[in-house]
Amino acid sequence: MQLAQNRYTIQGVDVLEIAEEFGLPLYVYDADKIIEKIGVLRSSFTGVNLKIKYAAKALTNLSILKLMRMQGTDIEVVSVNEARLALLAGFEPAQIMFTPSGNAFAEIQEAIGMGLKLNVDSIPLLQQIGEVYGGSVAVGLRINPHITEGGNVKIQTGHVDSKFGISVLQRADIQAVVTQYGMSVIGLHIHTGSDFKNADAFLKGADVLFELASDFPDLQFLDFGSGFKVAYKEGDHFTDVADLGAKVSAAFQAFCAGYGRELELCFEPGKFLVSESGHLLVNVNVVKQNPNRTFVQVDSGLNHLIRPMMYDAWHDIVNVSNPAGDHHRYNVVGYICETDTFATDRDLPEVRTNDVLAFKNAGAYGFSMASNYNSRPRPAEVLVYDGKPYLVRQRETFDDILRGQVNLSVLNEAATVAGE
Ligand SMILES: *Cc1c(COP(=O)(O)O)cnc(C)c1O
Repeated sequence: MQLAQNRYTIQGVDVLEIAEEFGLPLYVYDADKIIEKIGVLRSSFTGVNLKIKYAAKALTNLSILKLMRMQGTDIEVVSVNEARLALLAGFEPAQIMFTPSGNAFAEIQEAIGMGLKLNVDSIPLLQQIGEVYGGSVAVGLRINPHITEGGNVKIQTGHVDSKFGISVLQRADIQAVVTQYGMSVIGLHIHTGSDFKNADAFLKGADVLFELASDFPDLQFLDFGSGFKVAYKEGDHFTDVADLGAKVSAAFQAFCAGYGRELELCFEPGKFLVSESGHLLVNVNVVKQNPNRTFVQVDSGLNHLIRPMMYDAWHDIVNVSNPAGDHHRYNVVGYICETDTFATDRDLPEVRTNDVLAFKNAGAYGFSMASNYNSRPRPAEVLVYDGKPYLVRQRETFDDILRGQVNLSVLNEAATVAGE
């Protein structure tokens, strides 16, 4: 989103006009930003066979998945339904990596039936696959390297008490199952959480996999997951991708030379690719002056963007309607019957009733974590592509809230009696 002459634009399109045309609340994504981020990632690695697998759960809109495919990424999914979306977006099964986490075996079997690549996250699952399929299904292994990095404990997934992955300390147990069934292990995977600050955390994880790789002669890829930190506000620390790329490329080349073959080097960024591309536009319903706070109440809440409430995440807020206004301090809150505070004591240009506000960095884990809490419909989604805004998901209506509910006639009669 650009500001020039007191107008906010995305690819030259006026943001207020987008709000006017498609209504509020509204998620708006800038395709150029996503393309730019893919380019940044690619150009940061040299001399290695890099594969980017977009982590679909960050933003699963079909048009976003199609955009990723056009840009030549593969895809990483955590459910069979995400895989179905990827297939609808045109991905081949072999481009889809499924990383379950305690999923039912029926779902694993479905994934195998669909021809997806599979990352096995537990020894019992490895055992079960061996029992049912013998050595006929090639698997990747999700390893828990027991590394603690990153700031927010809620988004760390690689530490010793984390539920994710097979402990690197269970190396002998893995080998026993693999040998018993003659299984082919084609990949090793780690995903140590979100929001790492520097290349060192990745390199620590890489060393664990490099070491472990000697147990498996059939490897095709090593996958370092994600955890790219994105700056949510000015001065925030973010992953220096150029530095990371240079260091990991060098380490990976040395590893491949020792292993005797060139393997694929995979990353699975979600947030890094789509966070900055997205904005949640909302309308200001009420500006309420209390004795010691001014509350801005918007037509959204934790039902549409839960990151501030769930992770204490900071999202920059822009007053799209009044960029040149005098600055004041506000608590920006939602309309849900919960304490759904987006921002406390935030400095903003004067906010007036019916102003349009934009939450920045709302592309990742925004819409994909949205709900119908308080029986509110979820917002529409718009993709700005090639200088034009396109509707890519309709706003929900009351019909969507009703869908799936069964009319229990025995209760209709009871309600009539009670209403007499
Ligand atoms: C969520 C997830 C990612 C993406 O994480 P980001 O922080 O959004 O980049 C990658 N790999 C796996 C296995 C995940 O579960």
